[in-house]
Amino acid sequence: MSCLFCKIARAEIETALLYENEHVVAFRDIHPQAPQHILIIPRRHIATLNELDADSAYLVGEMLLAAKKLAAQMGFAEEGFRTVMNCNDDGGQTVYHLHLHLLGGRRMGWPPG
Ligand code: 5GP
Ligand code: ZN
Repeated sequence: MSCLFCKIARAEIETALLYENEHVVAFRDIHPQAPQHILIIPRRHIATLNELDADSAYLVGEMLLAAKKLAAQMGFAEEGFRTVMNCNDDGGQTVYHLHLHLLGGRRMGWPPG
């Protein structure tokens, strides 16, 4: 399967990983939207949140646990941060392998654009 994030997860594209375990990997977004902008993805290919089911739902928990650990480790957990999962065209999804954006290091606006 020709999926960019599958290739990153399998180390077929060299990417510095900030965190990894058996379920997820995390790396810096190539076009950061905040001083800290990290992507957390499941190793398993799931195209969008619409494809998540009862068997794969634990992976979203794993992604959020990784986000929490990274925010603490990188020193912005107390100040605060945002996690975002875009789904399909209206949601602004551009890479069709489930991912969680972890954004920190600045004050976030609301509502999002
Ligand atoms: P989406 O728009 O699908 O929610 O998020 C996809 C994210 O992947 C974007 O923020 C984009 O900057 C990032 N991205 C796209 N290609 C690459 C890449 O090759 N490497 C990394 N590290 N990030 C990428
Ligand atoms: Zn994939």
